[in-house]
Amino acid sequence: MPDTHQNHDDLGQQSIPQVDIIRPSLFQTDPRIVCGMSTRCGGLSKGSFGMNLSHSIGDDESDVKRNRARFFGSMNIQLEQLAIPRQVHGDIVRYVHEPGTYESCDGLTTDCPRVFLVVSVADCLPIVLVDPRKRAIAAVHAGWRGSESMVVLKAMRLMKDQYGTRADELLAYIGPAAGVCCYEVGPEVESRFDERYLHRTAQLKAHLDLKAFNKDLLVSSGVGKLHIEVSNLCTICNPKLLHSYRRDRINSGRMMCVVGLTD
Ligand SMILES: [Zn+2]
Repeated sequence: MPDTHQNHDDLGQQSIPQVDIIRPSLFQTDPRIVCGMSTRCGGLSKGSFGMNLSHSIGDDESDVKRNRARFFGSMNIQLEQLAIPRQVHGDIVRYVHEPGTYESCDGLTTDCPRVFLVVSVADCLPIVLVDPRKRAIAAVHAGWRGSESMVVLKAMRLMKDQYGTRADELLAYIGPAAGVCCYEVGPEVESRFDERYLHRTAQLKAHLDLKAFNKDLLVSSGVGKLHIEVSNLCTICNPKLLHSYRRDRINSGRMMCVVGLTD
C-alpha cells in the first residue's frame, strides 16, 4: 500500500493554503506511532519556499515559525516536543531522551514517548525505523554520502545496543526523495555505488537509485521485505507537491519527516 496524503483545512479559510501530510501506510495500524512528512503545500513563506520548515536557508524566521506551528500543529505535536539534528551529511546517530537541537549528526533514536524525532530533507532520503515491541524509534537523513556510509545501519546498530531491537521485528519507512527517474549523478558519485543501483539513460547518464540501495541495506541486515515501505514519490519530478534542492537550488525549501510514540 502506498503512503497517503492528507489535507488539513484546519483554519477553514480558502485564503489559507491547506497543510499536506504524507503518511506511511506501514504504521497506520498502530495508533501509538505518529509519523508524517510535510510537503511544500500549505505554508506561509513567500514564493517557492511555501511550506518551508528550515531556519538555515535564508527564509524569513517568523514565516518558518508559523509554518512549523501549522505543520506540527496539524499532527498534534508541540514544537517543544521536537528533537532536531543539525545535519552534516555524516553517519553519526545519537541516542536522545529529550527534545532539543543536536549538533553534527544525521540520525536520532529514542525510546522516550512524546519525544518527536525530525529530519529535514529536500531530495535526501528520510528513513524512519520503528521497533513496535521495544517501543523505540529512529529518524535518519541519508543523501548519497550518508547512504554510502550506511548511516541507516548505524541507527539499527544503536537501537540493538540501546534497546535490544531485533532486525526481524523492525519496521522501516523510506520516504519521498530523489528517485531513480531523475537523480542523475556524476562519475565521482557513480563510482561509489554498485552497478545494480545505477540506471543508464539513452545518453549514458547515470541515475542513482538510493531508495533501492537503502532498502537492500536493511534487507541484508535482516529486516523483512514486508516490513519496509518505500515511497514511490520522487521529489524532483513532483514540483507541485515536494521541495527539491536539485530542481530549485537556492529557491528550494526543506520538508520535515517526523516520528514519535505516544503513550
Ligand atoms: Zn523523478
